[in-house]
Amino acid sequence: MIKGKHLVAGQWIGSDSLFESSPATGPSHKFSVGTPELINKAAEEAEEAFFSYGYSKPNERASFLNKIAEEIEKRGKEITEIGSQETGLPSQRLEGERARTVGQLILFAKHIQNSDYLDFRHDIALPDRNPPRPEIKLIQRPIGPIAVFGASNFPLAFSVAGGDTASALAAGCTVVVKGHSAHPGTSEIVAQAIDDSIKKCNIHPGTISVIQGGNRDVGQSLVQHPLIKAVGFTGSLTGGKALFDLCASREEPIPFFGELGSVNPMFILPKAISNRTKEIASGWVGSLTLGVGQFCTNPGIAIVLDDENAEDFIKEVTTLISEIDPQIMLTEGISKAYRSGCDRMSSLNATKCLENNNENNRKAFPQLFVTKGENWLSQKELSEEVFGPSGLVVKAADFDEMELIAKKMVGQLTCTIHLDGEDQHKAKKLIPILERKAGRIIANGFPTGVEVCDSMVHGGPYPASTNFGATSVGTMSIRRFLRPVCYQNMPNSLLNHDLISN
Ligand code: NAP
Repeated sequence: MIKGKHLVAGQWIGSDSLFESSPATGPSHKFSVGTPELINKAAEEAEEAFFSYGYSKPNERASFLNKIAEEIEKRGKEITEIGSQETGLPSQRLEGERARTVGQLILFAKHIQNSDYLDFRHDIALPDRNPPRPEIKLIQRPIGPIAVFGASNFPLAFSVAGGDTASALAAGCTVVVKGHSAHPGTSEIVAQAIDDSIKKCNIHPGTISVIQGGNRDVGQSLVQHPLIKAVGFTGSLTGGKALFDLCASREEPIPFFGELGSVNPMFILPKAISNRTKEIASGWVGSLTLGVGQFCTNPGIAIVLDDENAEDFIKEVTTLISEIDPQIMLTEGISKAYRSGCDRMSSLNATKCLENNNENNRKAFPQLFVTKGENWLSQKELSEEVFGPSGLVVKAADFDEMELIAKKMVGQLTCTIHLDGEDQHKAKKLIPILERKAGRIIANGFPTGVEVCDSMVHGGPYPASTNFGATSVGTMSIRRFLRPVCYQNMPNSLLNHDLISN
C-alpha cells in the first residue's frame, strides 16, 4: 500500500504540497514533495543515530543488512508491479535487479564479518629506541551520515537500498536517501522494507531516512547540510557536476562520489573484425540495446579500421538494429534528451544508418551512426554520451589514428578490446593507453552486466566518476565511506571493539 509519504527516522511524514508520479503504464499516485526542512530533520536524526550505529558490531550490522534483504524479497511481487509501471522496464529485468540488490546487501553482510576491510595495522612500541616509538594502531572508521541519490536507471540496485546505501550501512555510516522522482512508489515500498527491518533489528530509527524528491532544493540542501559527510550519486553529467560543485564550495568540502557518464568505447582490431564480424556485431547490438540502452556501461562507440571488414560490420549491425522495435524509456525527460542527442549526432557529420525516426513520445528506436576518425577527433561533441540505444562507429584511417582516438578519450567506466591472434601486438599498444582512461578493461566481451564481486571496479577518471580512486560496485565500494584513524599510545580500555579484537 502506497502512503505517499517520506520515511524520516521511523516516522511516515507527509507535506502540504504533492506531486503526481508519471508511470509508463498503470495508475499514477500522489506523493508528498520533499523539503529542505525534512532533509534537516533526517540529517540531524542520522547524526544522532551515528553515535550508536557507528559503534555497532559488524555482526549487528550484518543482521540488519540481511533483514533488509529479506524484507525486500517479501515485497518482491509488489516491487516488480509498481517498478515496471513506473519505469516501463519489463518485469523480468526488475526481478533480476531485485536479485542483484538483495545479493549486494547479503554480500556486504558477509564482507564485514571478516575484519580485512578494516585494514588493521599495528606498529609495536619501541621504548628503547632513540627517539622512543609509541605503539600505533590504525583502523578504518565510518565517516558519519551519507547522502544517497536514487538513480533513475536502477530503481532498485542504485536507489533506496542499492549499492551506495548497502556499502554505507555496512561501513557503519547512517544514510539519508533522496528518492528519484521517476519511481517514487518503488522507493516507498523499499523504504517500508527498511522501516520494518529497523524495528525488527532494534536499530536507531535515524539510521536511514528516505525523502522523496520534487524540487531541486531537496538535493541541494542535502549535499549542503553540514552534518552530511559524503555523497553517493549516479546520474547526468550536468546534475552531478552541479551537486559536486556544491559539495566543493561548502564551508567544509566533502567527497562527492558521482558516477556521471561514459561512452564505453570498444576497439575492434583487424583480425577480430575479419574473423568474427557477425559474432561481434550481434554481441554489440545486444549490449547496446539492452534495457533501452539506459546503462552507464552501454558501449556507445565502436572504433574500427576503415576497410571492407568495417563496411561488412556496419551492414550487419544495421540489419540487426533495424529488427528491434522501439521501446519505452525511463522518463519523458530521458527520451527527450535521447532524441536531441541523436539529432546532435546527425548535425556533426555522423551518417545515420537507419531510416526510423524517433517520435515525440517515451518510446525510442535504436540508432546507428558512422563517422570518420578525423571527424571524431575534430568534433568534441561526438565523444559525448547519448543516453539510450544509440551507437556510433568511428572508422580510423589506420592503427596510428586508432591509437590517437584512444589517447583523446576522456575518462570512462570501461574500455573494450576485441582481438584475435595477430592482433596481440596492437592490443599491447592500446592497453597502456586504456588503463589510464577506465576503471575496467575488457577483452573480447561487452561491458553491460557488471559483476558485483570483490575485484570489480565501477569507476574511472572524470567524467566517468568524480573520484577516480573509488568504485561504486563491489565490496571495495565500502572504502568510500571509511576513513583511516590511528591511535597512538592509547590504552586498550579506550579502544573501539574492532581494534581490540584484531
Ligand atoms: P539527473 O538529472 O542527473 O538527476 C539525478 C538526481 O540528481 C535526481 O535526484 C535529481 O533531482 C538530482 N539533480 C540533478 N540536477 C540537480 C541540481 N542541479 N540540483 C539538485 N539536484 C539535482 O539524472 P536523471 O534524472 O537520472 O536523468 C537525466 C539524464 O541523466 C539522462 O537523460 C541521461 O543523460 C543521464 N543519466 C546518465 C546515467 C549514467 O549512468 N551515465 C544514468 C542516469 C541518467 P530531481 O529529481 O529533482 O531532478
